[in-house]
Amino acid sequence: MSHHLSLHIKSNLFQQKRLYHFFINKDLLVTKQKQKHDVSITNNKDEVQLLIDHGFIHLQKTGYYHYLPLGLKVINNITKIIDKEFQKYDPNYTIQKLELCNSSPVKLWQTTSRYPKNKDEVFEFMDLGSKRLLNPTCEEDITNLFKNFYKPNNQDSLPVVLYQNTKKFRNEKRPRFGLKMHLIFFKTMKQKYINIFEKLKLPVTLAKADSGDIGGEESIEFQYINEKGEDTLLSCSSCHTGFNIEKFSGELNEKYHEKTLKDLAFKLCWNLKKDTLIAIYYPKNEILSLTKIEEELGDKLDSESFKLESNQTIIDFVNNQEDLQEYLFNLPIARMIDLRINKRGDLPDWPFKMFSKYQFMNIDKVDLCKHSSNKYDCSECGHEETINVTRSIEIGHIFNLGDRYTNKDNFKVFNKDGASVKMGCYGIGVSRILQILINEKQDSFGCNLPVNVAPYKVNFIIDNYKKDQLDDSLISFIERISENKFEMDYYVDANKDVKQFEKCKISNAIGIPINVLVNGKHTQLPIVEVEIRGDIINNEWARLIEEQIKNKDDFTVLRGKREDNKLPLFKVNYNDIFTVIDILLKCIR
Ligand SMILES: [Zn+2]
Repeated sequence: MSHHLSLHIKSNLFQQKRLYHFFINKDLLVTKQKQKHDVSITNNKDEVQLLIDHGFIHLQKTGYYHYLPLGLKVINNITKIIDKEFQKYDPNYTIQKLELCNSSPVKLWQTTSRYPKNKDEVFEFMDLGSKRLLNPTCEEDITNLFKNFYKPNNQDSLPVVLYQNTKKFRNEKRPRFGLKMHLIFFKTMKQKYINIFEKLKLPVTLAKADSGDIGGEESIEFQYINEKGEDTLLSCSSCHTGFNIEKFSGELNEKYHEKTLKDLAFKLCWNLKKDTLIAIYYPKNEILSLTKIEEELGDKLDSESFKLESNQTIIDFVNNQEDLQEYLFNLPIARMIDLRINKRGDLPDWPFKMFSKYQFMNIDKVDLCKHSSNKYDCSECGHEETINVTRSIEIGHIFNLGDRYTNKDNFKVFNKDGASVKMGCYGIGVSRILQILINEKQDSFGCNLPVNVAPYKVNFIIDNYKKDQLDDSLISFIERISENKFEMDYYVDANKDVKQFEKCKISNAIGIPINVLVNGKHTQLPIVEVEIRGDIINNEWARLIEEQIKNKDDFTVLRGKREDNKLPLFKVNYNDIFTVIDILLKCIR
C-alpha cells in the first residue's frame, strides 16, 4: 500500500494534497478565529451543518447524504473498531462478516406478517413482475439464508454469528442520517458493544427497551446522554439500571401523592370522537403525558384540542350551543385528577354554569404527567426517588428474538432436540456515532476526534504558499515519508493556495491528532515542528521521545501542554520523525 502511494506522490505531487481542501467550507477558518470570542458558535450550529462544513458529508436533499472522503474515512475507522471487537477469537461460536442483498421479495416479509403491516414504512419496487422492498432490517433474509445451510448434521458449527455493515432503508416521515451495523446471531453480544463504545470514548447507558416491531423476548438499548436527543432515558442512581420511557413502570414516590397544590393547572379537551369532554387537573409545573392520559381513560384523545394552550375555545364552543341546558345535561364529562392533587384541596371553579353531578365520570389518583422529575421510585431495586430523567440518543440496540423468526410458517428451523433455533439481532448506528463524535467532541480548535477514528493520524503540513515548485529538500522529505514503511493513515498537505497557518487550523478543525510543520517561519529542514492536537494521556511523552531519538540536541519542547488556546509544540530532527510519531500515538488518544 505504501509503495503504491509513493508512486502516486512522486508523479502527482500537488494534486493529492488538495483532496480535503476541496470539500471544506472555507468559513470554517473564520468561524474558528471568531470562536475565541464566542465559544458558543459551534454549539449552536445545526448538527448536520457541522458535518457539512468540516467536509465529512454532503447534503443531497434533506435526509440524503453523500459521504465525502473524510467522512468515509471516519466511518471506516469506526467500522474497523467494530470488526476488530467482533472478530476476536472465541471458542464458543463462529463469527463471520457477510453482506446481504439490500432488497427482499415482499413474499418473504409476508411469511412473518411484517408485510403489509409495515407497508407505509418500506420502499417498494417491481422487478420482472415481482414486488420487492428495500430492507429496513434483515431478520427474514438472514433466517432464510441460515435455513438454506442449516442441516441436522452440522450442529457442531453452531452457534454462529453473522453480521454485516450496510445501509438500511426506512421510509421515515422525518428522514434521519442512517447507516446501521446489523448483526444476527445466537448469543448475547452485550459485552462486545460495551467494549466498542469504550474504544470510541462514548459513555453509554444501557436501557431496558421495548422490542417494537422487530419483536422477540427482550431488548436493550445503548443510550448516549445528550440534551438534543430524541429519546427520554430514565436511569436509577442506585442500581444504575436504565429504562426506555416506554418500558419504565416505576411509580411516583408516595410523598408526592395527594399534595394540596396551590399552583394547579386545569385542562379541557375532547376525546377522539368528540362525544366526551375531558377535564384534567394536574400541577402547573408538570407536563401532561398524552400516552398516560389515554391509557387511564381507555380512549384516544382529539390531539387538536389537546394541543390548545387555553380552554377558552372549548368553553366558547359549549356556551354557544343553542339549547345549552339540554346540551350540557347530555354531555358525558371525564374528570381526571392527577395523583399529585388532593381532591379535598381547592379545585378551580367549573367553567359551565349548568351541569348535573351524574354526568361526571371521575378518574383520580392516576399519574398523568411525564417523567420529568426525579421523584420516581426505581421499579428494579425499589429505591425511592432515584430515577434521573435525561434526553438521549440511541446508538445501539440488541434484541433477544427467541424463536420469533425461526418458528414461523415456512420458516421452521429446529435443532436436534426438536426445539426451535433461537436467534438474536443487534444493531449499531455507525453514522449516528459519526454525528455524535463530530458534534460532541468539539473544543476551541474544532473536532477533537479520538485517535482511533480520526481521518488521518498525522498531517505533514508543508509551507509552500504561492510556490509552483517544491525545493529539493522538500521533495526528498515527502519521498521519505511515502517510502518509509508507514502503516498508518497520514496526509501530506502541500496545497499552494493555502497558507501554512490556515492549513494547521483546518487540520485541527477536522481532528487530525498530530501536525508536522515542514519549513515555515521558524524552522527549516532538517528541523520540523510538531504540534499535538490529540488529548495527551501520558505526560511522560517528552521524556520518552528524548530517550529514544538519535538527534537529541535538535529536540526542543516549546510548549509542554495546552495553554491559552495554543497546542503543545516541539522541534525535532526529521530523521527522528517516525520514532516520534510512534511514541506520540501511544501517549495521546
Ligand atoms: Zn434502581
